[in-house]
Amino acid sequence: MTPITDIHGRQFKTLRVSLTNTCNLGCVYCVEESTEKKAIPSPQLPESNPLSVYKLIDCIATLHSVIGLETIRLTGGEPTLYRELLPLMQGIQQTGIPSVKMTTNGYLLSNKIVDLYNHGLTSLNISLDAIEPEPFFQISRRRNLHKILDGIEKALTFGIEVKINCVVMRGINDSQILPLLAFCHQRNIRIRFLELMQMGHLYGNFATYFFPEEEILDRIGTYANFQPMYRDASATAKYWQLPDGYQFGIIANESDPFCTDCNRLRLDSQGNIFGCLSDNTPIPVTDSLDNPQLLHEKLQTALAQKKTRFLGSTLSMLSIGG
Ligand code: SAM
Repeated sequence: MTPITDIHGRQFKTLRVSLTNTCNLGCVYCVEESTEKKAIPSPQLPESNPLSVYKLIDCIATLHSVIGLETIRLTGGEPTLYRELLPLMQGIQQTGIPSVKMTTNGYLLSNKIVDLYNHGLTSLNISLDAIEPEPFFQISRRRNLHKILDGIEKALTFGIEVKINCVVMRGINDSQILPLLAFCHQRNIRIRFLELMQMGHLYGNFATYFFPEEEILDRIGTYANFQPMYRDASATAKYWQLPDGYQFGIIANESDPFCTDCNRLRLDSQGNIFGCLSDNTPIPVTDSLDNPQLLHEKLQTALAQKKTRFLGSTLSMLSIGG
């Protein structure tokens, strides 16, 4: 088999798996008000996830055998709502993928962290868009911020690498840039501020809320001086360093696209792969796991989906996996 590489030298090395398209927060950039569920859903029922956990593990193991994955990131929707999370992680451990990471809103983390740690979790990205209760409610449509903060503290006590992600929306939570930075600086946790991406229900309306990297840096300049660091290959974030060595990041998908060395492949909870967030065309793979030639072709099709800059998408991160 020829290696799966495109003209930019891009290959798939990181697999992001969306375990469910359900979430227990109702963040305004992900969920349209009219479809927002007021109640926190119970863990995903098997019938609403078409893939059994065994099929999902088979899918991941087969993709790993073809690509040689370096990292797997479990995401969603909210991955901690996935009922078979621990059997899944056990299966992933057996595939030998070196690094198992998760992106979570942290809401259920404090009760789950011991098991996650014991099942090989090495790193957590925790989404936290505000550190004060009222702006937190404005952006997430939920109270109980303290549950997330408890989860963060607990993860830190286990020595799991924790990074905080904050999507900045003008007029909704830009007031939180400095309080969040101070919170993370005091605890020496890396924070990354994300530019809003033109996705889902905000596809036609994102300019109203867009808050660019330049303005994020201007705000941070009122807090401290900083120096730019270099960006790691295939990384989404660029980092800056304060005089005491603390580093913060920005994921500037619009202002400074990082697509030309993107190494990410996505697998959704329905068993479809996507090579790019800008491409809404799902490529089903569960029918190709026993057919190496066909799977290879599908991965090539997914790689060909990759663009050189993000073009926007009517799909929400909730379904494709953030
Ligand atoms: N529920 C988990 C969480 O909250 O981290 C995982 C899924 S969430 C879709 C993954 C990440 O995507 C979060 O950091 C979220 O803030 C980010 N995200 C979702 N929609 C976005 C958008 N339109 N622009 C930028 N980031 C977005």
